[in-house]
Amino acid sequence: MSNIGSKFKLEEPKQTRVKKFANAFGSFYRQNFAYRIYWGRSSLYRSFIHFSIISITVLITLGGISSRLTANSNRSNTIVADSITSGNIDLLEQGGSVQSILLATTTSNFEIERYTVREGDTYASIADAFGVTPESIKLSNANTISYYDATPPVGKQIRIPELNGVLIDINEGDTLDKIMNYITAGNRLDIIEINNLKEPEYALTPGSVILVPDGLFPPPPPPTPSIIYSAPPPPAPIPAPSEAVFQGVQFVDPLSNCPGYGYSRGFSSWHNGVDLPKSGGCPIRASAAGTVEFAGWSSGGEGFMVRIDHGNGVKTLYFHGDGQMWVTPGQQVYAGQDIMYMGCTGFCTGTHLHFSMKYNGVWINPAPYVPYARPY
Ligand SMILES: [Zn+2]
Repeated sequence: MSNIGSKFKLEEPKQTRVKKFANAFGSFYRQNFAYRIYWGRSSLYRSFIHFSIISITVLITLGGISSRLTANSNRSNTIVADSITSGNIDLLEQGGSVQSILLATTTSNFEIERYTVREGDTYASIADAFGVTPESIKLSNANTISYYDATPPVGKQIRIPELNGVLIDINEGDTLDKIMNYITAGNRLDIIEINNLKEPEYALTPGSVILVPDGLFPPPPPPTPSIIYSAPPPPAPIPAPSEAVFQGVQFVDPLSNCPGYGYSRGFSSWHNGVDLPKSGGCPIRASAAGTVEFAGWSSGGEGFMVRIDHGNGVKTLYFHGDGQMWVTPGQQVYAGQDIMYMGCTGFCTGTHLHFSMKYNGVWINPAPYVPYARPY
């Protein structure tokens, strides 16, 4: 009883203070309003106009915020995080002690979102929904998913940093200096700040996860190609129209053994070749006789690629192979010889051949010379 009484008493002066303030404000307002009506009509009108403008501004701002919130919630209907946790929370999953969990969860200044990949998701669509780069997502999950898969594995839960950057798992013996040596982008002070690392040694807790804002680290080594020399697929007739000639080089369709392949993109100032898709892939052939200049992994987004020198300054390039290569550098090939199997490695969103052509080192449009199937 006495407790309740004292509580009530404690609140009484508070209410009185609020009332007093309200009264004082009210009388101040009334006095000012009356004064202005009487003495300063024009200034009252001015105030009214100012008030209106400010009100409209506030309404527009609120409207903008609310429509953005609506847009966000719409977006959430398609791709939304399973959970959002404070950074370093991985300790929970790895069974850290209560003390280490508390230590970890209270020392992070960022959040990790988790998302289970669904059918049809791409790295680009997930990255877009969470406002980070696809590379951020790929690298942040490099320990658990294959960096070189074209699409994220359906059903797998991935982690996404709150900001653009990479999440790095901290192992026993890791130090900030080691991390600085490992990363190829990212700033030391940013790392200290967002991970709340403590002076003087900025120690890292084994089992925790740190965020390197705007960070990058070298991707894992690419899978080794399975090179097959013995059993290329059976040859098929190769059409060679007489007009398929450029600088004396006779061209054939590089997908002459790929019935029903499609055409998804042509040559332009931002796309240095043509994209010829085929679900499940098929063997790719040399589009003209020449010498294989390169056959292997190319890290600029080409994936597994072959480059053939046809002489007279003419070269053709074939990107995104699946890793089965039937030629090696230095090898002579004939027009229509199988060189590698179509895939979707490198920067790729669906199995296709990206076919490019160079003349004296400059990308040129292969459409007038190379008889691949196209919609015109
Ligand atoms: Zn392409």
